[in-house]
Amino acid sequence: MHTKTIAQLVSGLRSKAFSSVELTRHYLDRINSLDSKYNSFVTVTDDIALAQAEAADQRLAAGDASPLCGIPIAHKDIFCTLGVRTSCGSKMLDNFIAPYDATIVENYQRAGAVMLGKTNMDEFAMGSSNETSYYGPVKNPWNTQCVPGGSSGGSAAAVAALLAPAATASDTGGSIRQPAALCGLTGIKPTYGRVSRWGMIAFASSLDQAGTLTHTAEDAAIMLNAMASFDAKDSTCVDQPLEDYTAPLGDKLDGLTLGIPEEYFGEGLNPQTAERVQAAIKVYESLGAKVKAISLPHTHLAVPAYYVIAPAECSANLSRFDGVRYGYRCAEPKDLADLYKRSRGEAFGDEVKRRILVGTYALSAGYYDAYYNKAQQVRRLIKQDFVEAFKDVDVIVGPTAPNPAFEFGAKGDDPVAMYLEDIYTIATNLAGLPGLSIPCGLVDNKPVGLQLIGNYFAESRLLNAAHQFQLATDFHQQLAPETA
Ligand code: GLN
Repeated sequence: MHTKTIAQLVSGLRSKAFSSVELTRHYLDRINSLDSKYNSFVTVTDDIALAQAEAADQRLAAGDASPLCGIPIAHKDIFCTLGVRTSCGSKMLDNFIAPYDATIVENYQRAGAVMLGKTNMDEFAMGSSNETSYYGPVKNPWNTQCVPGGSSGGSAAAVAALLAPAATASDTGGSIRQPAALCGLTGIKPTYGRVSRWGMIAFASSLDQAGTLTHTAEDAAIMLNAMASFDAKDSTCVDQPLEDYTAPLGDKLDGLTLGIPEEYFGEGLNPQTAERVQAAIKVYESLGAKVKAISLPHTHLAVPAYYVIAPAECSANLSRFDGVRYGYRCAEPKDLADLYKRSRGEAFGDEVKRRILVGTYALSAGYYDAYYNKAQQVRRLIKQDFVEAFKDVDVIVGPTAPNPAFEFGAKGDDPVAMYLEDIYTIATNLAGLPGLSIPCGLVDNKPVGLQLIGNYFAESRLLNAAHQFQLATDFHQQLAPETA
């Protein structure tokens, strides 16, 4: 059962080849017996899963039409789940039981999906390797010496290791697409505002967006259909009509124009990764797409602008963790200042502290204009590059990450080397555009991701282009060794 896609599981449930309870038990057994190898789950919600599966079986028996009814999924531990620990990968929230469900968690419940548990992640979603989690690193199922990518590394490893058919994730600068690339999955970050952020613990609010990790683009379309909604509780959620993302999957690609940005193929790109990406572009040409060279001239400014804006926003967002209202509190505080200092000092990890320091500095009086305002101006230029490019092309194509999965510790002492792993994904968040990563081959037996970037609300076009590629290739069907 665990080698099936969601689309196949949907028919299996409908044809009564298995029930949701059987399917759910099967995944729970896999998680409980195999996850010690990967550390992809922080919490496994056996009881909730089985109760939801029983309810789903009743809905299925009554002819429920929701495709996700009875399908087990995992949630990144950044999404609040009523009555279930929501840790965000941090000691700070190790004891936090969320008093409500995130909107997307509710959306999946309404669709009848079954929650298997909460997945491991970089602390407060800060990282590209899943090495910053309080619960320890997540291992890449393709090679357990290597990182799965981050910050949604737990979600990616769980899906790649066939411990869940799909998982939710979040992407502030690449945290869905980069782990999708490193674990051989399909990962989609929708347009900023397409999916509610309510109940998703905030990192950098103007960049954060929820999305999914699956094996196929078809599964991503099914997942996004349930995840996307307008939510008045999130003031940045856009009231745009909902679409059926599965409807255009079969459309042919004749007439599609792909833009290939020269800046995404320069220095720093692993030459073998570049070869796989070029070969994938040739596949698109054989499917009828036209290819056009384009330029996104401010690409080199994306990482520096992001590492001002994201820390600035995180320093504000994380000020709520003060030892009083949520989470960890130090023992025997002497006074209020001591309570703040030691609670935060003891419960945040190094990367989170680094970002809070950088962000607080960038926002402080006298530096605000020089750093934060300047970064926002640069952000506008980056967005403008995309607006110009989308006058001539439909989809922008390039690598998702410059390298395949690297070994643990390889970039641990060098934050800048780590930050450069997101060089191709960050600009999309700064511009608020949708982006998707699909597998396009292996380098040293490790997956390589092809990134597709679309115009605002062009998710269906991205999913269509990804699905057509997957009909013509079998990279997405290659499984991590030892998983089947
Ligand atoms: N790796 C980037 C960072 O550490 C992006 C993280 C994310 O998308 N959540 O900020």
